[in-house]
Amino acid sequence: MKTVTILGATGSVGRSTLDLVEREPDAFQVLALTAHRDVTKLAEAAIRTKAKRAVVADEACLDALRSALAGTGIETAGGEQAVRDTADLGADLTMGAIVGCAGLEPVLAAIEQGRTVIIANKEPLVSAGEVVLAAAARSGATLLPADSEHNAIFQCFDVARPGRVRRIILTASGGPFRDWSLDQMRGVSVEQAVAHPNWSMGAKISVDSATMMNKGLELIEAARLFPVPHDAIEIILHRQSVIHSMVEYVDGSTLAQLGPPDMRVPIASCLAWPDRMATPMAPLDLVRIGRLDFEAPDAVRFPALRLAREALDAGGARPAILNAANEIAVAAFLDRRIGFLEIAAIVEDTLIRYDPPAPGALADVLAVDAEARVIAHERVKDCVA
Ligand code: NDP
Repeated sequence: MKTVTILGATGSVGRSTLDLVEREPDAFQVLALTAHRDVTKLAEAAIRTKAKRAVVADEACLDALRSALAGTGIETAGGEQAVRDTADLGADLTMGAIVGCAGLEPVLAAIEQGRTVIIANKEPLVSAGEVVLAAAARSGATLLPADSEHNAIFQCFDVARPGRVRRIILTASGGPFRDWSLDQMRGVSVEQAVAHPNWSMGAKISVDSATMMNKGLELIEAARLFPVPHDAIEIILHRQSVIHSMVEYVDGSTLAQLGPPDMRVPIASCLAWPDRMATPMAPLDLVRIGRLDFEAPDAVRFPALRLAREALDAGGARPAILNAANEIAVAAFLDRRIGFLEIAAIVEDTLIRYDPPAPGALADVLAVDAEARVIAHERVKDCVA
């Protein structure tokens, strides 16, 4: 029996994790669940799973959570510190499924416990990769990647012989606008941008997939997690989302991981690792799928790919600025304050305007993140004006 804490339990990844955990009550016991503000979903999940603790990051929602859980015996808490303290409880497995850099400190708190931390929440690895990896090295924590591409690479990568890897090939569906011209993309609505053709995900990552910033963030995430040179990580378009990524070896062998486009497959791989557990999805029907297509991505229509590659190569504060500006721009787009193409433009502009020295400790990363957000906010205001 393993104890599990889910940070971001009410989101898309959090709910997929709950679905798997709840199917195996003899294997997993829920210790704690956290959310931002969704008291209803959080309370329902806490009651269903008999969680020990439920936490809302927004303290203003704590009274509602207390009422929803009155008489259940489930502990309640509110506020960002409470989320961090909950990550600190020492669960055997912690799922990091908060969206954005808001997940950084909770994930670090979990890593410091030295147990197993499953990382779906990619933004902390992008912004503070060195800090996160150093914390894991110090505590001895095991990091397991749940992002489908990185989980695929993890399953194919020979960790004992990284020098034998020639290339990592990150596959990308291309998102809903993969065949659209720049002109067509200029006028896309929020509804169009969040309607991913293959995956059902939270709003922020859906927009990231539409701009292809998601693939840019994943490029940086892959560089953090796997010891290969940056130029050995390639992105290719694979519109069916059947192959989730590949590892090519020096002898010409390429290993690929295939599966249905459902996050429960990579999450299950992490929850059961190094074992396997059953998932409810139908097996892949390759005959019905019929063909697997591959194309080169278009960095002109999707400038986020270029921006992310440049940020990775430059290192230092650049990935943190890229990520922070993107979080602000995506939020502004979701709020209908800026147009779709302005997302990448704001990220690029923030990177041009702000070039601080490389951050060292966590506090430096947080300061860079905060300042980049201020600058990106200014650009949002300029776009609205
Ligand atoms: P969702 O938006 O669906 O869920 C986000 C979760 O984080 C919710 O539980 C939300 O709570 C909580 N949350 C939001 N803001 C805060 C905050 N400031 N403090 C604490 N908690 C917060 O996101 P996804 O599940 O789609 O994505 C989660 C992460 O996983 C992202 O980093 C994403 O890039 C990554 N990922 C997602 C995939 C997917 O298929 N969805 C695939 C691969 C990676 P509330 O519900 O109360 O708002």
